[in-house]
Amino acid sequence: MIAGASRMHRYPDGGTCALRRKIARKLGIKTDEILPSNGSNEVIELLGHVFLEKGKGIVTSDRAFAVYALVAKSFQADIVSVPMKDFRHDLKAMLSAIKPETRVVFVDNPNNPTSTMLNEAELDSFIEKVPDHVVVCIDEAYIELVDKKLQPDTLKHVRAGRKVVILRTFSKTYGLASLRLGYAVAPSGCIALMDRVRQPFNVNGMAQIAAMAALDDDEYVERTREMVKSGLLFFRETFEKMGLETIPAEANFMLVKVGNGRDVFNRMMKKGVIVRAMDVYGLPNHIRVSVGTPSENMKCVEALGAVMAENRADAK
Ligand SMILES: *Cc1c(COP(=O)(O)O)cnc(C)c1O
Repeated sequence: MIAGASRMHRYPDGGTCALRRKIARKLGIKTDEILPSNGSNEVIELLGHVFLEKGKGIVTSDRAFAVYALVAKSFQADIVSVPMKDFRHDLKAMLSAIKPETRVVFVDNPNNPTSTMLNEAELDSFIEKVPDHVVVCIDEAYIELVDKKLQPDTLKHVRAGRKVVILRTFSKTYGLASLRLGYAVAPSGCIALMDRVRQPFNVNGMAQIAAMAALDDDEYVERTREMVKSGLLFFRETFEKMGLETIPAEANFMLVKVGNGRDVFNRMMKKGVIVRAMDVYGLPNHIRVSVGTPSENMKCVEALGAVMAENRADAK
């Protein structure tokens, strides 16, 4: 990236050709089945441009990534938010929620904010049953954090030409959030439709340079996965000792039951630690805590411990 900085007065490759080839080779799929994007958020919007309008709709979970519903709303599309079951996507209910007007079903896996994951068999049987007029979008923003053996193979559905769009990002595991870089993997026909409605230079030059390097750095991904795993273990054990219930986590964050989540969020913020209040997702007693470096994790549990002690003192 430092070497590339002197070339930033030029437009980038608008076709992201080298990057498409590199991702395709890495995943074992065809170049025309890849679309690099300005963060994977852009692909969610492109799906809106291609498939959504007034009278059409999406199906998702009530505790899924908030952007699906925001995008659908901006295209005046109908939104069906299916209640989760035990903090997991209820695929059976989502299937029943599909209507003739439905165009896209969004499944984030692992899910943000619950950090739960569907396995390959569950996804396969769902994708098989989804009717042909519907595109299944599987958002795998955190998939590289999951042990290789446990990562569901969703690319096989793209290879088979099924109406599936896989979202990946460099913002999370690769640690390049600020560059705005993600990609879609989908059958070539679907990629071509999204290619037509995107901005001409949607992936900036610095992001393309970084992506080429990042894709070669498997060791960094391994290291990140291990660091997140030990961070989650530290959180789970520490929270358990504090008498706080956690939801088993697959991504780099975890739901913790703390009592009044909004109040805990406010008090922790005053101590310099930002967590996420879950009341907006109908979970007023939970907060979402993200794994950081070991010292950040320590600071987080100390802040939470202090807040819980304050709350106990207030209750007296
Ligand atoms: C972070 C995130 C994204 C997208 O992030 P980008 O920075 O736009 O690539 C997409 N889906 C989920 C579930 C996320 O958590």
